Amino acid sequence: MEKVDLRSLTYTQLEELVIRAGEKKFRASQVFSWLHEKGVSSIEEMTNLSKAFRETLSQLATIARVDIMEKYVSKKDGTVKYLMRLTDGECIETVVMQYHHGLTICISSQVGCRMGCRFCASTLGGKKRDLLAGEMLGQILSAQADIGKRISNIVMMGIGEPLDNFDNVRTFLELVNDERGLNIGYRHISLSTCGLVHGIAKLAEMNIPITLSISLHAPNDAIRTGMMPVNKAHNIETLLKACRDYQRVTGRRISFEYAMCDGVNDSAENALELAKRLSGMLCHVNLIPVNNVKERNYRKSKKETIEKFIEILAKNGITATVRRELGSDISASCGQLRQKTLEA
Ligand code: SAH
Repeated sequence: MEKVDLRSLTYTQLEELVIRAGEKKFRASQVFSWLHEKGVSSIEEMTNLSKAFRETLSQLATIARVDIMEKYVSKKDGTVKYLMRLTDGECIETVVMQYHHGLTICISSQVGCRMGCRFCASTLGGKKRDLLAGEMLGQILSAQADIGKRISNIVMMGIGEPLDNFDNVRTFLELVNDERGLNIGYRHISLSTCGLVHGIAKLAEMNIPITLSISLHAPNDAIRTGMMPVNKAHNIETLLKACRDYQRVTGRRISFEYAMCDGVNDSAENALELAKRLSGMLCHVNLIPVNNVKERNYRKSKKETIEKFIEILAKNGITATVRRELGSDISASCGQLRQKTLEA
């Protein structure tokens, strides 16, 4: 029988396991605290449990490892980037950024990605596997232990498509928000998707006040399909309908990510078309000067072009800002480090 990952169990599932291991239900609170507050990486470390109980637990469960393998610190802005190794030897990336409101962690949700966005480094080798909820939590616990300060905000914008790993992501959200564990409020969590509309609908059903970020990147289907194959399955109209439904249920402002690519999606006409498409929606547009990935041939838009783009959006009632480029000296954008390691 395959052992379950202890840190991926919800509190109720953990109680059931504790009972199966022949102990009283309340022991689950001790185990949960070891896993989610203290962040231990082995069952042996749970020293307030009897040796016999730890042994029975070890027969039923393990704790998936997320170990820091490499660490890079940006000299420009203190951004920290980690290459983390999982139990099976696969690698993922995690980034910690410092903002005035505290530390924000950018976590990965899959090993690789199968969405195929043409400007993105994470997708170059396809998807290897989904991450467990415990492996998403493990990224936070390992980074927090290394830095020695509380991480207060999470963005799910690392490697992988979170809505392509829906069940594990849902468990992760529940666990990270649990007041007996890391206790990070939903309002401090953003989830970014390339636009899997069924996942957006399921997220709406959960009705939790996280921030939904949509990687839109284009004002029309012709441009978007050229940049993102997922647009063939769910076009912009379908995607924006899912966003409007999401907003109706949750009442939350939606963030749209827009990678500014020179000569591809950054003209005045593109800005106007984008503003029209988003009109009437409670939203914010984040413009990201595209990061050049060596295997891809997209180039950053010029500064003046970006300013003009923002101006046109503003005139048409859409607020937009340029995302600060953090950690540019340490390949901090997603997928670049893992890709380098795969090539080495
Ligand atoms: N799969 C999810 C989350 C991961 S990517 C998604 O697609 O939203 C996080 C963000 O970085 C996305 O908006 C993605 O489109 C963007 N991104 C990926 N590669 C980039 C690059 N080279 N330059 C700028 N943004 C990029």
